[in-house]
Amino acid sequence: MGEGLGVRVLVLRSLSDLRQWRDAVPHGKSVGFVPTMGALHAGHMKLIEECGKDVDLTIVSIFVNPLQFGPNEDLARYPRPFEQDQKLCEQAGVDVIFAPESSGFYSVDHATYCDVEGLDRYLCGASRPGHFRGVCTVVLKLFNLVQPHRAYFGKKDIQQALILRKMVADLSLNLEMVLVDTVREPSGLALSSRNGYLSDEDKQRAASLYRGLSTARSAYQNGERNSEILKSIIRNEMDLGSVRADDSPNRIDYIEIVSQSKLEPIIIIDQPAVMALAVYYGKTRLIDNILIP
Ligand code: AMP
Repeated sequence: MGEGLGVRVLVLRSLSDLRQWRDAVPHGKSVGFVPTMGALHAGHMKLIEECGKDVDLTIVSIFVNPLQFGPNEDLARYPRPFEQDQKLCEQAGVDVIFAPESSGFYSVDHATYCDVEGLDRYLCGASRPGHFRGVCTVVLKLFNLVQPHRAYFGKKDIQQALILRKMVADLSLNLEMVLVDTVREPSGLALSSRNGYLSDEDKQRAASLYRGLSTARSAYQNGERNSEILKSIIRNEMDLGSVRADDSPNRIDYIEIVSQSKLEPIIIIDQPAVMALAVYYGKTRLIDNILIP
């Protein structure tokens, strides 16, 4: 890891520059990789911090991957504050930012995709068809380019992290996956690049998502094992507010309790599980989860 404050981070824009950099990394040096879509916040910075503790060189990718966005999703309006991201990376002592031009990353006739079957059947996989195929494809391509020894992902996107971990195992990729706890605002709201879309009122309301999950976890800790009851506890705590002026109401996408091993719904919690939810505040879709036990 670099010296931190004031050291300029190396910004690479092309696949060939990245290859050249990687080829020049001395044999004994370990490389840690934090893939992101930018608009960096304290959650991303936690991944970067954990990475920096473990490895010699930290590389962060910033790429808003078109493959993982559905046709009606927020690809065009997704925030891209590159200079601010660069500054944050510099302050954190990141060695390299890989920020490819959108047009140069996939060839125009790109036709190869990576699918992890099964784990994408429920939760976000059900609501966002093709999303995880896009995620796996970009991350596999990035892994091939960066060849990291370790890669860092947030538990905030737990389905993504578990699917990618399965991809790494199934394809015998030679790297270690590190999963990092979710960073939250003092209100409990999980940090997300999409929180910037929310009004103050929506933000306050959205803090109820974590309250719901926490209340359900307490019930679990007090012996409640019935998923339907735990899900109703989450639902009851949720503040969706009143009808909005526009035609995109606040609404629950899903509240699910699934096994950690298969990410399939379970009726009675008799194994490690995930309580997960996705909610729309207007057009903004938020996700959160808690692992139990
Ligand atoms: P994104 O830029 O949203 O694709 O996220 C890049 C990485 O940061 C993913 O591994 C996310 O799971 C992780 N991440 C996003 N938000 C948080 C958070 N609040 N706490 C911890 N990790 C996060």
